[in-house]
Amino acid sequence: MFKQRTIKHPIKAEGLGLHNGQLATMRLLPAPVDSGIVFKRIDVTPAVEFRVTPQLVGETTLCTTLLQSGLKVATIEHLMSAIAGLGIDNLLIEIDEAEIPIMDGSADPFIFLLQSAGVQVQDAPKKFVRILKPIEVKGPYDNWAKLEPMNGFRLTFSIDFSHPVFEETASSMTVDFSSTSYMREVSRARTFGFMKDVEYLRQNNLALGGSLNNAIVISDEGIMNEQGLRFDDEFVKHKILDAVGDLYVLGHTIIGHYSAHKSGHALNNQVLRKLQEMPDAWEYVTFEEGAEVPVNFISSKVA
Ligand SMILES: [Zn+2]
Repeated sequence: MFKQRTIKHPIKAEGLGLHNGQLATMRLLPAPVDSGIVFKRIDVTPAVEFRVTPQLVGETTLCTTLLQSGLKVATIEHLMSAIAGLGIDNLLIEIDEAEIPIMDGSADPFIFLLQSAGVQVQDAPKKFVRILKPIEVKGPYDNWAKLEPMNGFRLTFSIDFSHPVFEETASSMTVDFSSTSYMREVSRARTFGFMKDVEYLRQNNLALGGSLNNAIVISDEGIMNEQGLRFDDEFVKHKILDAVGDLYVLGHTIIGHYSAHKSGHALNNQVLRKLQEMPDAWEYVTFEEGAEVPVNFISSKVA
């Protein structure tokens, strides 16, 4: 049987929140089988646990935020993406602030952290969610997202920004995680933003921790980061990184094809809520040891 995974040892990290600008200390800890991904705010008494589900996502403006008991844990998507990419099922994340550190704006530092802690195989079958029927959601700006049956985990994403920088880079791409390495091809893509929005965002107490160290910043002249892009298609790749994280709030890797146009955190979450309302549109599946698993998130080396 392919089994669930957690980490071997606790590990600590600290960094600035992209939006609140606060220094947060975070501790990742092993967690028991079937406990899922749990965030725990330890700066309040008593501490408050957020067991990640699509319903717990309460805000999706600029980042994915969990809300519970009047408290929040913001900007979970890049950490969730790294957790998904390493096929980790159970993890406790203690944090002493309201926002996960942005690190370098990608999922790469979280991959490094989780791999340093080591992956631990657990004694329970790993459950995947297989899509059986198409599910589609539409947004107000000609944007949409859908899940369809497919024997793999494929994401097709397209973006549409009217800025010359985007004309020189790919505006759409498909990644198939039966053949593509999440770690090599996706995890290093950084978040991006426009210089013209920075003043407005800061007036609204957003992007307070944002800098050229943790985002690609685009001005009227072009990309402001001296080193340029990490990939020619870093923008659309980052949208795929976000979607991998946003979809993993389901707590299980999806077997299906996710395609989206001008989608973001809101539609990524709505499609999951719709999925949960349609019990005949999906099923849980497990795999016998030695069976061909169509998603390579669990092929990463177990330390
Ligand atoms: Zn992002």
